[in-house]
Amino acid sequence: MKRKTEGRESIAVLGSTGSIGTSTLDVVARHPERFAVYALTGRTRLDVLARQCVAYGPARVVVDTAADADALRGRLDALGHRERLQIDHGPKALCDVAAEADVVMAAIVGAAGLPAAMAAARAGRRVLLANKEALVMAGALFMDAIAASGATLLPIDSEHNAIFQCMPPVPGTAHGGVERVLLTASGGPFRTIPLAAMETVTPAQAVAHPNWVMGRKISVDSATMMNKGLEVIEARWLFGVTADRIEVVIHPQSVVHSMVSYVDGSVLAQMGNPDMRTPIAHALGYPDRIPSGVGPLDLAKVGRLDFEKPDLARFPCLGLAYRALAGGDDAPTILNAANEIAVEAFLDERIRFTAIADVVAEVLDALPTSGTRSFDDVLATDARARERAQAAVGRRAGDANAYHVARTVSATASTSSRSS
Ligand code: NAD
Ligand code: MG
Repeated sequence: MKRKTEGRESIAVLGSTGSIGTSTLDVVARHPERFAVYALTGRTRLDVLARQCVAYGPARVVVDTAADADALRGRLDALGHRERLQIDHGPKALCDVAAEADVVMAAIVGAAGLPAAMAAARAGRRVLLANKEALVMAGALFMDAIAASGATLLPIDSEHNAIFQCMPPVPGTAHGGVERVLLTASGGPFRTIPLAAMETVTPAQAVAHPNWVMGRKISVDSATMMNKGLEVIEARWLFGVTADRIEVVIHPQSVVHSMVSYVDGSVLAQMGNPDMRTPIAHALGYPDRIPSGVGPLDLAKVGRLDFEKPDLARFPCLGLAYRALAGGDDAPTILNAANEIAVEAFLDERIRFTAIADVVAEVLDALPTSGTRSFDDVLATDARARERAQAAVGRRAGDANAYHVARTVSATASTSSRSS
C-alpha cells in the first residue's frame, strides 16, 4: 500500500481513460504538491492509458484482460517507459487498488463500477463518486458501508456536488430547514425537436450533448433524461431526501448546476461554467478550494437563465425512475440494469431511441421486486434484469430493421437531391 507519499495524498483514478478520468488527471496535474497518482485503470483506449502512465508515474495499473496487460506493456516499451509498474487485470484487482489509495475517484461507467466503489467505501477511503449507477443499484448498502467504515463520500455529479455545496454547512444539521432540492437538467439534444422525430434519431445525434462532452452511455441517458432519473435516486441516497422533495427543473444553459430551497423561502444555487473540472476540484480539495483550470463565469455573456418543467411525455424515462424509486426494494437496480442493456442496444443500432423507455418499462413491469438483503442480492437482481432486458431488446430487432430501411431511404433521397 502506498499512502501519504512525501506528505501528498495517494489517488486511484478508476476509469482514468474516460471523460471524468481524464478531467480528474487534468486537475490533479495542477496540484503536484497535494496528490501522487497511485493507480490508474481503464478497459479501453490503452494508448491513452500508456501515455497517462508516462505522465503520472502510477505504482499500479489495472486493465480488463491478460491480453490487455500484455498490450499495455508493449505500448509502454515503445514509449520507453522504464518506471517500476505493477500491471494487473480484472475486477478483483480493481477492488484492490480502490481499497489501497487515500483518495479514490470512482469513474467507471455503469454497474461495472459498483464493486470497486464499494471496496473503497468499505476500506474507509475518501470516495469521490462519479459512478452514479453504484448508488442507484445499491444505495442503502453503499451508504451503510460509508457510515460503518468512516469513509468520506463526496459527490462528483455536477448537480449533487452543487447541492452538497448549498446544503447547511454545520455537520449534524444537514436537513435543518431544507424544504426541497431542485435538480437542474439541460433537457439534452432533443428537448425541442418534434416528438415524432424522436423515433428516428441516431446514436450520433443522441451523444451530441449541447453543453457537456461526456462518455457515450451518460450522453444517451441525458438525451432520454434517464440520467436525471438516476440522479433523483442518487440524490435520495446522498442527501436522505424523499422523492417528493426532489424536483427536476429544466435549465437549458447548464449554468445553475442545482439548488437547495429552504423553509424560509431562500433558494441557494451553485453556478459555474459547465465543466466537470469544477466539481472534481471541489471534491479533491475539500474543504479547501483549489484551482481547477475552469475560467470564471461571464454572466453578461450567458445573458439569460431559463427554467421550465420537464415534459414526461417526451421523456418517459424520468417518470420510470420516479416509479422505481417509489417502488422501493430493488426496483432501482432493475431500472438501472434494463437501461444499461437498452442503451447499449440503441448505440449498436439494434433498437430505436424511443424503445429504450419501452424496454425499461417492460422489465420493470415483468420482474417482481424484493427486499435487498446483501450485495450478492444486488448482483443477482442486476443479472436477472439484464437477461429480461436482452429478451425485450431481441423482440424489437425487427422494428429496428424497419428503422434502418427508413433511415437509409431518407439518406439516399437527400444525397440524390443534392447531386441533382
Ligand atoms: P466514459 O465512458 O468516458 O469512461 C468510462 C471509464 O470506465 C473508461 O476509463 C473505461 O475504460 C472504464 N470502463 C468502462 N467499462 C468498464 C468495465 N466493465 N470495467 C472496468 N472499467 C470500465 O464515461 P464517463 O462519461 O467518464 O462517466 C463515468 C461515470 O461518471 C459514469 O457513471 C457517469 O454517469 C458519471 N458521470 C459522468 C459525467 C461526465 O461529464 N462525463 C458527469 C457526471 C457523472
Ligand atoms: Mg449530472
